[in-house]
Amino acid sequence: MKGRSCFETPQDKRIAEVAVDLPLPKTLHYQIPPALQQKATLGKRVLVPIGNRRVTGYVLNLLTESPVEGLKEIIEIVDEAPLFSLEDLKFLQFISTYYFAKPGNALRLALFEGQGRKEHGPQRSLPRIKKERYIRIDGAGLAMFDEKTLTRAPRQAEILNLLKEKGAIACRALKKQGKDIESALKGLTKKGLISSYYLERYREHLPYHDPSFDLPPSLTLDQTRAWKKIREGIRKGGFHPYLLHGVTGSGKTEIYLKGIEEVLQLHKGAIVLVPEISLTSFALERFRARFGRKIALIHSRLSEGERHDELRRIREGEARIVLGARSALFVPIKDLGIIIVDEEHDPSYKQEEGIRYHARDLALVKGRIFNAVVILGSATPSLESYYNAQTGKLTGLSLPERVQKRPLPHVKVVDLRKKTVERDDPFSSEIKEGIEERLKKGEQVVLFLNRRGFATSVLCPECGYLFACPHCSVALVQHLKKGGLFCHYCNHQVALPDTCPQCNSLRLKSLGWGTERVEKEVKRIFPGAKVARMDRDTTKGKLSYHHILNDFALGKQDILVGTQMITKGYDLPQITLVGIILADTALSLPDFRASERAFQVLTQVAGRAGRGDKKGEVIIQTFNPEHYSIASACSHDYLGFYRQELLFRQELNYPPFSRLVAFRLEGREEEALRNYASHFGTIVREVLEKEGYQQEVEVLGPAPAPWAKLKGRYRYQMLLKGKKLKPLHALVGRLLQEKALQPTGKRIRWSVDVDPLQMM
Ligand code: ADP
Ligand code: ZN
Ligand code: ZN
Repeated sequence: MKGRSCFETPQDKRIAEVAVDLPLPKTLHYQIPPALQQKATLGKRVLVPIGNRRVTGYVLNLLTESPVEGLKEIIEIVDEAPLFSLEDLKFLQFISTYYFAKPGNALRLALFEGQGRKEHGPQRSLPRIKKERYIRIDGAGLAMFDEKTLTRAPRQAEILNLLKEKGAIACRALKKQGKDIESALKGLTKKGLISSYYLERYREHLPYHDPSFDLPPSLTLDQTRAWKKIREGIRKGGFHPYLLHGVTGSGKTEIYLKGIEEVLQLHKGAIVLVPEISLTSFALERFRARFGRKIALIHSRLSEGERHDELRRIREGEARIVLGARSALFVPIKDLGIIIVDEEHDPSYKQEEGIRYHARDLALVKGRIFNAVVILGSATPSLESYYNAQTGKLTGLSLPERVQKRPLPHVKVVDLRKKTVERDDPFSSEIKEGIEERLKKGEQVVLFLNRRGFATSVLCPECGYLFACPHCSVALVQHLKKGGLFCHYCNHQVALPDTCPQCNSLRLKSLGWGTERVEKEVKRIFPGAKVARMDRDTTKGKLSYHHILNDFALGKQDILVGTQMITKGYDLPQITLVGIILADTALSLPDFRASERAFQVLTQVAGRAGRGDKKGEVIIQTFNPEHYSIASACSHDYLGFYRQELLFRQELNYPPFSRLVAFRLEGREEEALRNYASHFGTIVREVLEKEGYQQEVEVLGPAPAPWAKLKGRYRYQMLLKGKKLKPLHALVGRLLQEKALQPTGKRIRWSVDVDPLQMM
């Protein structure tokens, strides 16, 4: 083979590097038989033999030679056209290398339809297509008709006027407006004024939305300044990453919309990532209002059929924009022009199982590979992103004021340490008075507490017995409506007995407030108020989140009580008071990012107040009023928070001053895991020294995780810290090959988490 390379033609590349759809650590090489030579191109699926099985794989690379002898042949080539472009493959290969993921598993991220898994089993029938009726004006008919004769048919005139405005309307949207629609349509058709046509109806997963023509506002000065920079990047072409830091209500979304419009004009596509929770909300409606069916939606609550429809609309080019939670990043969009990551600091962008990727980080990688503009937007950027903007890795843009100079809400702090009498009552007199005042004026109130259930634990004050989960190292949470005590991690449940199981005392005590209790209390104190609650317990139904918010938006409720779910994704002018029942919940977590999380959540929820013409107020109840997270959130001082937090990170050498890799060890038996963890630590340190990484990599642990047991598994973790990623990455790669680290007991396993986000 050697020496011929100067005559190399594609025909010489008779070997395919294939990632099979099995959890194998490596790609495999196969000979391409001459008959398949023409068809074997990158990105196609192939059928290959492994042992005596036939499995699907993906052609990642074509090679002239292989170090492996006696290669087997590809059996068949499945696709006419490649499923992946070269860039897609490059992106997926990056993921596989960076996160130490098996190539086949990385490919799966991009295979939304489970292609390849069941492909050779019985053919699944495709979802049935429904047709939907639309009407439009018949131009010729209209020209010959005297509209005055319609004065006696007001319904017909109304529909005709609507059609003149919109061009075409789905009949389904019209029929909601009354019974006489059908006869009006008949009349118009008979007069030759309108005609009907039918289009495929895609499953709609949200209540029907009529894409009314939402006119873009003219930009404010700040928006214009930011937009000009982004437009420059889009027009130049190539990879340009931006960090758009704008306070809540400063008009970031308007800039995203502009960016998308611009790339659409250049015939390019867009990916918009939003946190999972914002997906069924109003933010989304604004995108739909502006772009209608050019948007496809991808998220975890879609049924397989719905996802199929959306992916088809993208493939067929009807949809040029995909909007979704983190997984939408993997949708192959032709000629990608822009990627937008809204609320870039949101922890839901990190996938916490399987391949533990971070969609915001990968958005930047994808932007680089696809030569696209990337906008990361947030009111409270992550420390990493803000630091990257300061050091020039991202172009920083800022919107320091709310649109129309609306003031940020005034924040009042209630020091709970001084309220010993009221300890048992979730509401300080300040909050109660605040609510009362809003109710009188007919304004709306949001009450935030990041814990669901009635009481966070139940305890016996006589003997100290605490109801805890037998499978997890957490207390059981009391729920009134569901009746009983529940574990929020594994769903273990027990009935609440009348007496203490340990000492038979009758004085069991419910401690700690949850949203269910807040709702109950607020109803008791304000019997006239209409109260809704939004947390994971009240939003089990597919559309319940949307319905609760919708009713609140329509003014059917006065007070909305909720967890993190109510911190973002809506913009309601009637909310003039936000009450934060306990600001400290996030601060107490044993995680170096706890202060950052607390600051972000408080700022987000406070940002819901005063978005209309009326002034907003926020009341924060806390035991730690001096804590810088709380103090900075009160004064809307992102920069103040950032500087303080940065010092802390620098001192302890945490990101953005270092890179981290976590090893997570789990096992069913405590002692076996403890022994294994100790062995694991020894080996890691040995390898570290042998390979000479002592200077570059610091090793912490292994130690029991703060949640030492979850779902019946004991947990240990070990942290590797390095100033630079490269040596850290090289060391981890080496450790993954280390035979001595393979668990001997079957019930023990460990995994790698590159750039870990949560430390618990
Ligand atoms: P953010 O995404 O930063 O929270 P939004 O984009 O939701 O802010 O804007 C807040 C509100 O201001 C929205 O109701 C939006 O329609 C409105 N808005 C945004 N830009 C403008 C503008 N240039 N002129 C008038 N209203 C605007
Ligand atoms: Zn007891
Ligand atoms: Zn549990």
